[in-house]
Amino acid sequence: MKTFARARPSLLRQINERHVLAAIQMHGPLSRAEITRCTGISGPTVTRAVAALLDARLLEEGDFRPAALGRPSKVLRLAGKNVSVLGAIIGSQTCELVCAGLDGEIHDESHVTFPTPNTYEDLVEQFVMAVRESCSKEKTTVLGLGLSLPGLLNHREGRVLLSPNLHQTDGKRLGHDLSSRLGLEVATVQESTGLCLAERMYGAARGLDHFVVVDINEGLGVCVVNDGEVLEGQSGLAGELGHITVDIDGKPCGCGNRGCLETIATDHALADAVSQRAGRQMAIEEIVTEIREGRMEMGPEFDRAMAYLSVGLAAVVNLFNPQRVFVFGKFLDAHPELFHRLTQMTWKRALKPAMADCEIIRAQANKRLGAIAGIIQHITTGRDDHAE
Ligand SMILES: [Zn+2]
Repeated sequence: MKTFARARPSLLRQINERHVLAAIQMHGPLSRAEITRCTGISGPTVTRAVAALLDARLLEEGDFRPAALGRPSKVLRLAGKNVSVLGAIIGSQTCELVCAGLDGEIHDESHVTFPTPNTYEDLVEQFVMAVRESCSKEKTTVLGLGLSLPGLLNHREGRVLLSPNLHQTDGKRLGHDLSSRLGLEVATVQESTGLCLAERMYGAARGLDHFVVVDINEGLGVCVVNDGEVLEGQSGLAGELGHITVDIDGKPCGCGNRGCLETIATDHALADAVSQRAGRQMAIEEIVTEIREGRMEMGPEFDRAMAYLSVGLAAVVNLFNPQRVFVFGKFLDAHPELFHRLTQMTWKRALKPAMADCEIIRAQANKRLGAIAGIIQHITTGRDDHAE
């Protein structure tokens, strides 16, 4: 790493520069003439906006592209060579730190993983050490850190209000604390929102105005994009599908209630149920491998999780009428037929006119890209859940 450099939000508030960045983010590398065509902004204004963005090191010039008329021109792309961003992913079992260019290309050599510490103080300390270690290996200038957090996040304060699977962060402002320790710009996103941003930047949600990402990994979170905007609710708490009661006298949930959907229909809940049958604690990754290699049966736990999950997915289709629903979860890798079965079950439960217009597919993005997308969105548009 050279030095930490703060991005320049005042510069980025310039509307034309945002449009230029958004066009390149949407379409990939473009020449100045192509930017003019995509955005409808005049040529001289595009030239000025590009010059400012090159100066701010948010764009880089690439190869020459032949032009139909006139001289060939250089294409412009999001910076990947000289600047980078970090992504921190907090899970209930494992934490990760990754580094990427503004183009979203992850630098494998800077990847750090460690078990999630039991106390908040250790969590902060380990991330401070991991960021410093990662930056010492990076040859680029780090512009900021995207922080992907589970639980209920007040997006105005960047404070975790309640994290049912990670109580050590309850009441804490991890983004704020890391920013003040590291002197680095930090954008905090709820993990389902991060997945949603990443699906829109790098996955199959590019250009969609109505879609939903359903995250069934540790909890069961939903991020809804309606008319192009993320549905947040009054303080950013919308989308907690996992804490709807589906079994009145069911198992206790980390939220304090019992019988919540996420006590039955997530990777985590399913791993717990299969572990009971196996007589030992197994992670979902191990279960998936055992089943794929024929050493374990899927068993009734899978049927139950799928049935309840289809209730949740049908509710999402009925409530939000999306064009596409993206499902992010590991247990679906256990058998190639599982996802198809899940969509069939959802079809039976959802309202037919809403379902007829909707496609349910596996998510292409992941939580690493979610954290990266959080900070890139902040840098390129000045918008995010919360930034320090
Ligand atoms: Zn709950």
